Amino acid sequence: MKLADICDVLADFAPLRLQENYDNAGLLLGPPDRDIRGIICAHDCTEEVLQEALSLGANLIIVHHPLIFKPLKKITSSNHVERMVEKLIEHKIALYSTHTTLDNCLYGGNGRTAEKLGLKGLSILRKQSEGLLKLHTYCPQANSESILNALFEAGAGHIGDYSECSFKAPGNGSFRAGVGTTPHVGEIDRRHHEDEDKLEVILEKHQQSKILKALFKAHPYEEVAYDLVELENENLLRGSGIVGEFENPMSPDAFLQLVADVLRQPNLRFNAKPNKNIQKVAICGGSGDFLTPDALASSVDVFITGDIGYHRFLDLNDELFLVDPGHYESEQFVAEVIHEHLSQKFANFAVHLASPGSPVQYL
Ligand SMILES: [Zn+2]
Repeated sequence: MKLADICDVLADFAPLRLQENYDNAGLLLGPPDRDIRGIICAHDCTEEVLQEALSLGANLIIVHHPLIFKPLKKITSSNHVERMVEKLIEHKIALYSTHTTLDNCLYGGNGRTAEKLGLKGLSILRKQSEGLLKLHTYCPQANSESILNALFEAGAGHIGDYSECSFKAPGNGSFRAGVGTTPHVGEIDRRHHEDEDKLEVILEKHQQSKILKALFKAHPYEEVAYDLVELENENLLRGSGIVGEFENPMSPDAFLQLVADVLRQPNLRFNAKPNKNIQKVAICGGSGDFLTPDALASSVDVFITGDIGYHRFLDLNDELFLVDPGHYESEQFVAEVIHEHLSQKFANFAVHLASPGSPVQYL
């Protein structure tokens, strides 16, 4: 399989458009036309992961954190990044990072953590309000279903957890076919009226070319009439952090024990425990303090994230229950999500999950 084909599948799953402007996600190393023999999914590109890739015969490492994050001006073995880049090139191992492209998906690492904790009714904590388009198209009524099928197949029509969403209204279209055309119906140089359906579906910007291609292929007309309209709607599937609720609220102590068990982290850091049961939970794996205002605005009972500073714990003591399991621990399931997705997409291909590991150790 070519590296480019795997990159396409990853970009479909976690669109590159979603990455934050400070990020450097996507294909970081390797020519797109390289043949890939095996894949290993990991959290970071470390020496241990490289050795695991070599022993498994994998020549593509897919990581959460981008190894190359800041501009790389020299490669002289002077630090971890330079040494890893040298070794990857030496062993002809390609590298791809998903980072914030997947962080901004409802069912990325945060979604997996929420599911493992048993939270229900998951939604994005800070939804994106850009990147959605509405497609209107007009077609003979006999072709409506096959065109809708093609649009859905190409990825249109998702609203939250609902798929195949569309609207259809009958009407009457007109056109005059020019000399030299081959109209599907009607005669050359004579106005024709046709009973048509107007179809409407929603899509994401990054899907535009794929969906238009599917429309043109499925539509019987030589010239397809369509409108693409930018929407200001919130995208229910894209954005930062996640919120969910427990069916059965639990005490703060029981909640802390659950987090410690699920995230395999007995050394949780937290501020004052509230005098009420925990039901509504916000999560942002990694460094999620930037979402504290959103967690407060959502009236959650607790916010789980990593890298919380001392003063933040103090300042929010009476306002928001903060639980910090650690940067790695709060986003450790990202590699599992990628591994699962690629294993489903490439059922007969070697996709491995690296051994877990954080550079931070505890007593
Ligand atoms: Zn991180």
